[in-house]
Amino acid sequence: MAENQRVTSFAPRIADWQTRAGRHGLPWQGTRDPYRIWLSEVMLQQTQASTVIAYYERFLALFPDVTALAAADPDTVMHAWAGLGYYARARNLQRCARILAYETNGCFPRTAQALAQLPGIGPSTAAAIAAFAFGAREPILDGNVKRILARYFGVVGDPSTRAVEQNLWSLAHAVLEAAPADLDMTAYTQGQMDLGALVCTRHQPDCARCPLNASCHARQHGQQHLLPTPRQRRARPERSCLMLILECQGHLLLHKHASPGIWGGLWGLPQFDTPDALRAACGTMGVAGGDTDSDEPSRLAGISHAFTHFRLHIEPWWLRANACRLPAPGPNEAWVPITRLGATALPAPLEKLLGGLYPPSDANPDEGGVN
Ligand code: SF4
Repeated sequence: MAENQRVTSFAPRIADWQTRAGRHGLPWQGTRDPYRIWLSEVMLQQTQASTVIAYYERFLALFPDVTALAAADPDTVMHAWAGLGYYARARNLQRCARILAYETNGCFPRTAQALAQLPGIGPSTAAAIAAFAFGAREPILDGNVKRILARYFGVVGDPSTRAVEQNLWSLAHAVLEAAPADLDMTAYTQGQMDLGALVCTRHQPDCARCPLNASCHARQHGQQHLLPTPRQRRARPERSCLMLILECQGHLLLHKHASPGIWGGLWGLPQFDTPDALRAACGTMGVAGGDTDSDEPSRLAGISHAFTHFRLHIEPWWLRANACRLPAPGPNEAWVPITRLGATALPAPLEKLLGGLYPPSDANPDEGGVN
């Protein structure tokens, strides 16, 4: 196939394939509502569609439009997001909703350039919203599209580097400019996502089913597993900390993480660097040691959690204090009824840890909240 034909046929072949064989039943499809599209695109940024579906539907039930999300209690937003990870996305969602609700009466900008000025909306997400909601002729370049373009055009080099990414953006623009004027932008945009998720997958590309197979560089040269060029991996640093699970009168002492931060806006457990520091804090609160009749804190089995840039080893320590009154919480701390843990915005590893210690079946949702 001639080179110009490889370029001109790229987009229509993907759009045709999507219409015939792509995904059509996802809950965020079949709408032009930019709020619903924006929400799905942000949730899908680092999470697979199969995981996003339940979160998306729950989020929409709680916050059906921009105004509802803008007015919501940030704790409720974080709780609805908890488990999806990358919590900056949830904080940016609400920042963005507030800008739209208070500055544009809840209306979304219609161009990718204007959308990309809003918090948490990068150029590819902005293009996807503009294409799905307004039919804009804008290219996307998420991880799936980078992989397809790198394989199809034989682009060598790590796509996370600036030069290679610029090259891929140029190709994304070129294939769209060369496509017919009547290209269905919804089918094309969705088709790139579907092709990357279902056919041109990272580890097992199914070239026999691919609409691009007749002129794909990687297929012709047997380079599917060489492209895109893998990122040079550095060893992930390890960090560790101790966390105190302090139980007193059916409550746990929780600490609110500052924003911005890796768990910013979520509730967590008080953290310490050493067992001595943890014991000293218990002594200062009057819940262990000295004249108290509480036991000393005891160490539980450790857990690990992988973040993008490091791995965190958590050593939980547990103490049931016998104090007759709840000790005064420190700054950014609160005593939370154990029965309300299920309704509290916790990071996923702590939700799992505390869920194991205090099973949700014991919960009574009518009991009081954070105090
Ligand atoms: S032919 Fe194979 S490697 Fe090329 S784009 Fe299609 S699935 Fe990917």
